[in-house]
Amino acid sequence: MFRQAKWDERLLFEYEDKGLGFAFPMALETCSLPQKLRRGTPIAIPNLSEGEVVRHYTRLSEMNYGVDSGIYPLGSCTMKYTPKLLEEIAAKDELDLHPYTHVAFAQGHLQIMYELEAMLKEIGGVDAVTLQPAAGAQGEFLGMLLVKRHHETRDEHRTEVIIPDTAHGTNPASAKMAGFDVVEIPSKDGCVDMQALKSALGARTAALMLTNPNTLGIFESQILEIADLVHSAGALLYYDGANLNSILGVVRPGDMGFDIVHFNLHKTFGTPHGGGGPGAGPIGVRASLERYLPIPRIEYQTGKYRLDYDRPDSIGKLRAFYGNFNVLVKAYVYIKLFGGDGLRAIAECATLNANYMLHKLKAHYNFEYDGLRKHEFVISPKGKRTLELAKNLLDTGMHPPTIYFPLIIKEALMIEPTESEAKETLDEYVATLIALQERELGEAPMNASVARIDEVTASKAPITSWMSMRNEGAGR
Ligand SMILES: *Cc1c(COP(=O)(O)O)cnc(C)c1O
Repeated sequence: MFRQAKWDERLLFEYEDKGLGFAFPMALETCSLPQKLRRGTPIAIPNLSEGEVVRHYTRLSEMNYGVDSGIYPLGSCTMKYTPKLLEEIAAKDELDLHPYTHVAFAQGHLQIMYELEAMLKEIGGVDAVTLQPAAGAQGEFLGMLLVKRHHETRDEHRTEVIIPDTAHGTNPASAKMAGFDVVEIPSKDGCVDMQALKSALGARTAALMLTNPNTLGIFESQILEIADLVHSAGALLYYDGANLNSILGVVRPGDMGFDIVHFNLHKTFGTPHGGGGPGAGPIGVRASLERYLPIPRIEYQTGKYRLDYDRPDSIGKLRAFYGNFNVLVKAYVYIKLFGGDGLRAIAECATLNANYMLHKLKAHYNFEYDGLRKHEFVISPKGKRTLELAKNLLDTGMHPPTIYFPLIIKEALMIEPTESEAKETLDEYVATLIALQERELGEAPMNASVARIDEVTASKAPITSWMSMRNEGAGR
């Protein structure tokens, strides 16, 4: 029987001061820090021994669940296991460089980024890549700024971005943040409704944002026709790369007709995610859009790498410096480790795993739009609430899939097993899902470190910091 650790763990700030903390060898009074820069009163954090701090974090980790604890088939997120070797390499001291280091001393770093750009160009079928965006959503936002600049440069006034109703919430948010109006179109048989697309396209259309395969795991087989329609209307086609894992080395977004492509390095290329660590969302573009990419661009001339800031058409800077470097290193090593054939094997295995599970679950769950899937599939329970099912699943020691997304499927359970799970694990997960569908669901979770939370209050009145929790007296 599974039981998650359930410590009544306080925040470190709430521990009593035991006076056992690390003692600075030199008393602050004798150091040369000017008086006006010194804090008058001691800061209100307790002195704790190393042992106490280690135990605190160990207990927190015991109450956690991650891909290192078990299967984590969160649809649309590609929560796969990635080799620990990547962490080891990315953490090397030699890679730790101050961002203002002169380029002459950062040649190796620039080479890694330059070569990663080249590999992503090949994988995405695009002409230029920037590594700057820190996440998929920031990549989308950059993509929308590029769309805007593209049309402005051509003196075209285009204000609308078309987005299918299966899209991830970041798509409309990014388009809106860049100043566009969002036009949502419905799906037909789980894919873009061609008729609806045709009527939405017009002189005001700036772009269509699409992910392929889409969030139902279905490959939009009309993609070439979609690209033609979008381009004939004078608009651009944007690729949300969250689902790239399923087509790696098989087909390239650039070849499908996409003009701008984002890559979620933390989904597809070797950075574990879900715990809020840094990610990266590089953007690839067609040659005609390269001049708008953010500065600096990495150039390679006469045996040296340099940073080019002299780009008058660039949208400018998207964020500080050059991107989340350690995530870039992990992607670089990951791609080198697997090679072209290995990447293709990843896509094939991820697809096989998803269809294997779907095949076994189909008879027990509702499943719309029959047919094969790519890396993920969406089902819904019969006569039960998905939320209840997911909470009961927690008590079995397995992480639930994504729930209630995409929005077009009622009571959606969106399962993405990824390539990194063994057949036995998939079988166990399927057996558990079938058992839950067959039996009466009880109060849950009982065996997890956190019981049922008040999700409405959490989203309507979020308390996002310890300070606000203390100030609002919300208690623990
Ligand atoms: C995860 C995801 C995004 C956003 O990517 P982040 O890196 O989380 O910002 C966009 N679209 C889809 C379909 C996704 O699954």
